[in-house]
Amino acid sequence: MSLNDHWMQRDLDVLWHPCTQMKDHERLPLVAIRKASGVWLEDFDGKRYLDAVSSWWVNVFGHANPRINARIREQLESLEHVMLAGFTHQPVIELSERLVQITPPGLAKVFYADNGSSGIEVALKMSFHYWLNNGQTGKKRFVTLTNSYHGETVAAMSVGDVSLFTDTYKALLLDTLKVPSPDCYLRPEGVSWEEHSRVMFAHMERTLAEHHHEVAAVIVEPLIQGAGGMRMYHPIYLKLLREACDRYGVHLIHDEIAVGFGRTGTLFACEQAGITPDFLVLSKALTGGYLPMAAVLTTDEVYGAFYDDYATLRAFLHSHTYTGNPLACAAALATLDIFRDDDVIERNKALAARMASATEHLKDHPHVAEVRQTGMALAVEMVQDKASKAAYPWQERRGLAVYQHALKRGALLRPLGSVVYFLPPYVITPEEIDFLAEVASEGIDIATRETVSVAVDNRYPDHRDPG
Ligand SMILES: *Cc1c(COP(=O)(O)O)cnc(C)c1O
Repeated sequence: MSLNDHWMQRDLDVLWHPCTQMKDHERLPLVAIRKASGVWLEDFDGKRYLDAVSSWWVNVFGHANPRINARIREQLESLEHVMLAGFTHQPVIELSERLVQITPPGLAKVFYADNGSSGIEVALKMSFHYWLNNGQTGKKRFVTLTNSYHGETVAAMSVGDVSLFTDTYKALLLDTLKVPSPDCYLRPEGVSWEEHSRVMFAHMERTLAEHHHEVAAVIVEPLIQGAGGMRMYHPIYLKLLREACDRYGVHLIHDEIAVGFGRTGTLFACEQAGITPDFLVLSKALTGGYLPMAAVLTTDEVYGAFYDDYATLRAFLHSHTYTGNPLACAAALATLDIFRDDDVIERNKALAARMASATEHLKDHPHVAEVRQTGMALAVEMVQDKASKAAYPWQERRGLAVYQHALKRGALLRPLGSVVYFLPPYVITPEEIDFLAEVASEGIDIATRETVSVAVDNRYPDHRDPG
């Protein structure tokens, strides 16, 4: 028995993995990772895998990054954790100062949670509670885009639109208002991203005009709908949305959990629209992919609505035990130092261009409908029929074939359904990008070659799943 098999067996005896039909592991090997360095993961048998998806979009400066490691080690020697109610500490103060500095003007206060979904819960509750504190008891609904994803706790699922969840857990969910996404994959031929995004905004305008009196906030994933298949849109949509939210007296929540910290080509996606949301939710790359943490930034205006004498009972009611953990703050501070000192955003431009040129040929593939890119995220949409963009039935699990091929070749390339994407750490080299493109091309050839026959019921799009 290989060492990998040994660990897989011990794992399967006791573990239940996220986003996994565990029965799949009767035939799909589980990859046990022993160590990692830079963009490379290494299993127990010494095989290496290029981490093309940054371990679910968190890792930006590589595994075992010496600068982040050192900062965490140093922090560990003085303070590992202290509760954040009534107490505070240096790393959380410094991190909050830095976040206020680097985010768009107007965001002045930082509230922490310990994962992305919890950060979303914070933003939703804060928005609702703000209106309540201002005497507007009727503003309790949220507007969301179709195909959006905001996490998997119950309220976060409610504002998402992954039908697998919204069908399964429907009975538990909040009642939200859904507006058609500006997703530019769906634009008519010959129409630009900007024009399509602008045209699609009419749906949002109409919904806000009709419902603003009962709406607390609009929540969006700016520029890239990640788990919904790396679908992308133009910043003009965010600009129009900011204007409309101001006109109608509705908050704007930017979920930059996946796109924050340089993924879209700017440090934050909202910069491309030149706007400040009322709530900016950050997580994932915030700690360089080291430790779970989320930050919710908001304005003095929002903060002020909660600030009062104790007996008025206007305080915000939310607390996670590990709020502001010093080790996570240290990892985040080291990550921000690297952004500041290494001119990362500028250097990523060359890497993004290499991602584009290395995948250029895939545009002509008979089963590729689109190769799209925003900054350091690039996606290839595999389809059954190129002309009509007819999707593969999800049951065929075409993405899974790409995933399996990539593992064989030494890459962790985990597609979202039929969407193969690169979301690599920023320390990837141009040669490694070429390698990924080669592996992806081979995988796409294999995955689209044969016919797979299954009973078709296309209710469920995919979610974080290689399909
Ligand atoms: C990952 C993600 C979340 C949820 O974060 P978790 O830490 O997994 O709870 C929310 N929103 C977006 C856009 C995400 O990509």
